[in-house]
Amino acid sequence: MRIIIIGGVAAGATAAARARRISETAEITVIERGPYVSYANCGLPYFISGAIQKRSRLLLQTPEGFDSRYAIKVRVDTEALEIDRAAKRVRVKGPEGEEWIGYDALILAQGGNPVTPPIEGAEAANVFRLWTVPDMDRLHAFIQTEKPASAVIAGGGFVGLEMAEAFHARGIAVTLVELLPTVMPGMDPEFGGLIRRRLEDRGVAVVTGSRLKAVRSATHEVELSDGRRLPAGLVLLSVGVRPELALARQAGLALGECGGLEVDKYLCTSDPAIWAAGDMVEVIHKVSGRRVRLPLAGPANRQGRIAASNALGVPMKYRGAIGSSVVKVFDATTAFTGLSEAAARASGYDTGAAIIARDHHASYYPGGRELVLKIVYDRKTARLLGGQAWGEEGVEKRIDVLATALQGRMTLHDLAELDLSYAPPYSSANDPVNLAAFVGLNDISGFSPLITAAELKRLLEEADEAERPLLLDVRNLGEYAAAHLRGALNIPIDELRFRLEEVPRGRPIVVHCYSGFRSHLALRILKQNGFERVRNLTGSWVAILAHGGFEIERETEN
Ligand SMILES: Cc1cc2nc3c(=O)[nH]c(=O)nc-3n(C[C@H](O)[C@H](O)[C@H](O)COP(=O)(O)OP(=O)(O)OC[C@H]3O[C@@H](n4cnc5c(N)ncnc54)[C@H](O)[C@@H]3O)c2cc1C
Repeated sequence: MRIIIIGGVAAGATAAARARRISETAEITVIERGPYVSYANCGLPYFISGAIQKRSRLLLQTPEGFDSRYAIKVRVDTEALEIDRAAKRVRVKGPEGEEWIGYDALILAQGGNPVTPPIEGAEAANVFRLWTVPDMDRLHAFIQTEKPASAVIAGGGFVGLEMAEAFHARGIAVTLVELLPTVMPGMDPEFGGLIRRRLEDRGVAVVTGSRLKAVRSATHEVELSDGRRLPAGLVLLSVGVRPELALARQAGLALGECGGLEVDKYLCTSDPAIWAAGDMVEVIHKVSGRRVRLPLAGPANRQGRIAASNALGVPMKYRGAIGSSVVKVFDATTAFTGLSEAAARASGYDTGAAIIARDHHASYYPGGRELVLKIVYDRKTARLLGGQAWGEEGVEKRIDVLATALQGRMTLHDLAELDLSYAPPYSSANDPVNLAAFVGLNDISGFSPLITAAELKRLLEEADEAERPLLLDVRNLGEYAAAHLRGALNIPIDELRFRLEEVPRGRPIVVHCYSGFRSHLALRILKQNGFERVRNLTGSWVAILAHGGFEIERETEN
């Protein structure tokens, strides 16, 4: 059995090692275009920042290591140029020239390439991308020798965020430029707002809704689509990744509807002797059931393992991915799983969303840090559709619980019942995951209906006079005085029972506090006093600030 694997990093290296564990007799060859195999591309930003000091730690395996440990032949600096499916052979070009090598099973693990946006001056010597170890070496050498004072990063996704922190750690003044209205555009705007605020607090400038138009290396500047000019001794492009499909196209393999390579549930391509894995393939989104591309390391590694098993005749299904991810933003963390509120709406669900903002552990135990947790659900079935979180502690723990719940197709009823570990330094007797489920269930049952910041903003902008909600702010006087929504009526929660006559009847009411808890109590008071059309702004003031775009009156300094 001759197996060729094209691509030797995440999916490819995993496939090779798995293939050997299944078969001691298979002849396994890995073809890798670059000079390194099995390196930690997720770790590259941390070498630039200095968090990882030894470059060698990023190189997880070498061709010699593959040979001695696994008896696998790794050919680096060797590119696969053509697949001859009829003759089951691949044309490769390496240091010793070109040759054809035959296979019985072929695994494509070619990943993707960073997108180069159409920017004038993109080929200048101070413009970088960060995808491979050589990319990292070039960038590192430039920083060491040129000592740029300023950097502009195009793209506010996870690589852009990690690199903003890395450049900042190197003493470089950073501006992050994102074309869409928020950074981390795959998450809902509240989280983009929270991330932005933290970046700005730590000294990173953020520009959204604008695109990099030109790099002017001579003046160490870039020009944006809105005409602004920014100082940029260094420019990093991180605006996304495109699957590497030239070879698959040349071989006539079927491509999918989202621009990736099509594979079946055994990760087999349209050719029964060719499997594929990693960033180049399209997979099923386990929540929406749609075909998607999720270029992430976890799915790539698991797919590599499965593709190798199937190629060696050990059937294994790949049931899809949910896109769980986590990013460090200075001393905070943000994480995501499943569908965002926006994606769930676009997928046609009767979408509900609940946000809670509270200490990550028992409020009476010292050291609590605010955790913002949002769950997205189908209001018809109460099925969990996704989760997003932000905070300094306990963020990824909650998202991993939600990711597990998504895998099990759990409902909010299941989440409400989850028996999670608890002691005061770690959580509360009702974990934030339980609490978010309670809030969501109260919304679905009508006990305490919710409105999200996005819906409220739409209502305030578009609804006619009769449907424009009264904004009822039940925070205390000091909180209200410091900053409040324009036109909001302030009745502190503890006074509400005695001041009900001040609340107009017959109008829709949106009630809010700081986190959504006091406003839940207020809503219950109002409902039990005959106010029918009341909704609680989920995430309340935290969501208002994070979402942005609301008219806010602030206390003037005098
Ligand atoms: C800076 C950075 C940070 C990241 N951080 C995270 C993170 O924190 N979490 C996360 O989940 N994901 C992260 N990712 C994404 C993750 O690394 C990728 O999803 C993963 O590496 C994809 O694995 P892959 O095997 O499909 O492709 P790759 O790892 O890209 O490997 C593909 C390999 O195929 C080779 N190749 C392509 N065509 C040919 C050819 N014709 N002949 C020979 N060789 C070929 C390429 O040279 C490449 O080495 C990060 C990526 C980068 C760049």
